[in-house]
Amino acid sequence: MIVVMREGAREEEIQTVVNLLEGKGLSAHISQGVEKTVIGIIGPKERVRELSLEALPGVEKVMPVSNPFKLASRAFHPQDTMVQVGSCVVGGADPVIIAGPCSVESKDQILEIAHAVRAAGAHMLRGGAFKPRTSPYSFQGLGEEGLKYLALAREATGLPVVSEVMETEALPMMLEYVDILQIGARNMQNYPLLRAVGRTNKPVLLKRGLSATMEEWLMSAEYILAEGNPNVILCERGIRTFEKYTRNTLDLNAVPVVQHLSHLPVVVDPSHGVGNARYVIPMARAAVAAGAHGLIVEVHPNPPEALSDGDQSLTLEAFEQMVREVARVARALNEVADTAYAHKS
Ligand code: PEP
Ligand code: MN
Repeated sequence: MIVVMREGAREEEIQTVVNLLEGKGLSAHISQGVEKTVIGIIGPKERVRELSLEALPGVEKVMPVSNPFKLASRAFHPQDTMVQVGSCVVGGADPVIIAGPCSVESKDQILEIAHAVRAAGAHMLRGGAFKPRTSPYSFQGLGEEGLKYLALAREATGLPVVSEVMETEALPMMLEYVDILQIGARNMQNYPLLRAVGRTNKPVLLKRGLSATMEEWLMSAEYILAEGNPNVILCERGIRTFEKYTRNTLDLNAVPVVQHLSHLPVVVDPSHGVGNARYVIPMARAAVAAGAHGLIVEVHPNPPEALSDGDQSLTLEAFEQMVREVARVARALNEVADTAYAHKS
């Protein structure tokens, strides 16, 4: 259920509603809109009804949220959420580009890539230090050493860094080094991990699970939001289908659908979505054309030698080309913005 306050409702009126809800053992989450404040209520509907909140001063209406996700829904938070990461904003009109290797392999490697992707126009740096590999015998990442190199690369370039947290126990360490915590596709339904990142204030890049529906994905975002962390960025990275020519099927339907259902920003990972560098640029262009708030792409100076995901990694030259092409798509999109954003109405 949500309580929509009247335009100009006073602070005391909002507080009265919150106090009544909390007095009944319900949890109240405030969304301060430009015009109106909305209070999201988590707890049984019957208990909310007993409070007759509609009769209170400042209350416009009390209504159910039809989706199973509440705090992630547009009903609760009508305007787009913008997640601030250093000087970048994810969720605004300009697509944010996150680039870097699948894995941090050495200090020199990450520094070289960081400088190169920044020069090409990236806004943030990615790099895995703890890798969720299908085989236990494959390179598992450099661990904390990798995080230290990422932090050095941030210092050297000013780019905020994104890296995957694989388990709850590693969270305190990750918080020291990264600007965005990535929750990998395989961990999208690791509820204790979602709760743990929800108890921090660090931005979270929540990847869609390999075979998760959009609803399941938004429910995972809900876990993070319900713990109090509003800084969630969704990431579409392809889902598993019967198709074999690509590693996954990049589900660009997700971009307008989740933008309609939710206020959270959504970025697209075409690298994991297709699994083959040849197809990354067209799908990066398509993601931006669909209205994605950003891209996260794998880049390596020498893909055949990469310790993970070389097949899908762009060379530095290809990345430069991608940035140029995507910028042109973004410019074109601005000109047709009325149709591009029709899903929000
Ligand atoms: C990655 O970003 O390198 C990664 C492992 O992604 P995903 O969890 O989407 O497979
Ligand atoms: Mn990868």
